[in-house]
Amino acid sequence: MKLFLFGHDYRYAAEQMLLTLFPDERPEYPQGKPEGDRAELCLNEGALKYTAVCRLFLNGSEFRGRASVQKSKITDELSKAKYLQRIIKFSFYRAALKSGRPKPVWGALTGIRPGKLLSNLLEAGMGDRAALSKFMRDNDVSRERALLCLYTAHAGLDCARTLDSRDICLYIGIPFCPTRCSYCSFVSQSVQKSMKLIPAYLEALYREIDATAEVVKSLSLRPISVYMGGGTPTTLSAQELHELCSKLETAFDLASVREYTVEAGRPDTITKEKLETLKIHGVTRVSVNPQTMEDAVLEAIGRKHTAQDVLNALKIVSDVGGFEINMDLIAGLPLDTPETFGKTLDTVLALYPENITVHTLALKKGSGIMLGNTPRPSAEDVGSMIDHANSALFKAGYKPYYLYRQKYMSGGFENIGWQRSHTENIYNICIMEELCSIISMGGGASTKLCLGSGRIERIFDPKYPAEYIDSIEKVIADKRKIIELMS
Ligand code: SF4
Repeated sequence: MKLFLFGHDYRYAAEQMLLTLFPDERPEYPQGKPEGDRAELCLNEGALKYTAVCRLFLNGSEFRGRASVQKSKITDELSKAKYLQRIIKFSFYRAALKSGRPKPVWGALTGIRPGKLLSNLLEAGMGDRAALSKFMRDNDVSRERALLCLYTAHAGLDCARTLDSRDICLYIGIPFCPTRCSYCSFVSQSVQKSMKLIPAYLEALYREIDATAEVVKSLSLRPISVYMGGGTPTTLSAQELHELCSKLETAFDLASVREYTVEAGRPDTITKEKLETLKIHGVTRVSVNPQTMEDAVLEAIGRKHTAQDVLNALKIVSDVGGFEINMDLIAGLPLDTPETFGKTLDTVLALYPENITVHTLALKKGSGIMLGNTPRPSAEDVGSMIDHANSALFKAGYKPYYLYRQKYMSGGFENIGWQRSHTENIYNICIMEELCSIISMGGGASTKLCLGSGRIERIFDPKYPAEYIDSIEKVIADKRKIIELMS
């Protein structure tokens, strides 16, 4: 859609709302006289308030939305930018609803962490009921979605109370998988060919681990959580896993670690020997991710394993014993229907894992799923799947403990981590609520430093194994910058 901004240059705010209201449209900023279907977003300054007006032109009709903020509410440049962006988004939102666009699932909320505003209200001392009402009213959010945020906000606040200022989470990225799933955005197209890079990759990773451990020591930081993700770390052999875990133990002081997760997402990578190795090294949680328990759907997404393989892998996990289990599901996969998704959920609930994460399929351009012709469920069907999952999980005794959205999510829904019996994963809460720094190593790893007063700095490692290996000197130099940033 053509966007014209008058009196401001808040492109990001305009684009975020465009994506929420018109998910299939992409922003264009043409020069010259505005014409055709478009949104004109104007910001005006008055004596007492700022007013944003959106004029939305669709198929020859005009729809107007308006929002304003009193100048007395603005305290500094940061709050000014925040309020002005908010009224610009709201004017766009109101004009679109007047045009007959359906109300988005999350109302006027855009962004990755829709619950953050609710967490802020609770943190400021507001009670549940008052915070919930304000959150719903201010953002036009349904009670159902606001309640999900209330659970996750409390999980975040409870977790925050247990943290010390020196606490950090460690993340280790293993960007290898036996094959590539069609919806994947984490590993390269040539993931099978890249397997031969594993020895060189681990050598480079060990160098980064050593350099990072020096940084952690010099800043007296204390790892409380270790998370090994990817990719699928259990693509490594038992011997390689043993060497990697040993390396982490000798490099870092892991005495204060409260949880240690290894993603064993693909059941075709799980063996008794690997799990016994992980257990010896103190791993407390593994993630076995079916995504679906329908063989036809598994085949459609290129998983190269069956639902029975998932059950077999879980049998190995429980035979070895001592692990909390997470299982990931995705709503919106090709060939899936509300009925088959319901069957998957029933099967997974019968297994009663400690954590279940329900994702909504993200429709990333260029992914195998977007390029293929296999039919995908409609946004309404994805909505039924999510609604069914939410009520079935609550009924089975699970509670949401972290929640986030991504760009281009099918139907605009969300991803929710559910837990039972107080088995919240600290790493997931910390990364979503930005409670402590996450220091990450390996291909595709992203370090997130929480520097106080809401200041965040990020450092990204190269995504794919070959470029990671080639740029290891720079990766190490970047890690050393943490000392300066956190001192
Ligand atoms: S298992 Fe996960 S990381 Fe590996 S290819 Fe599939 S989606 Fe990507």
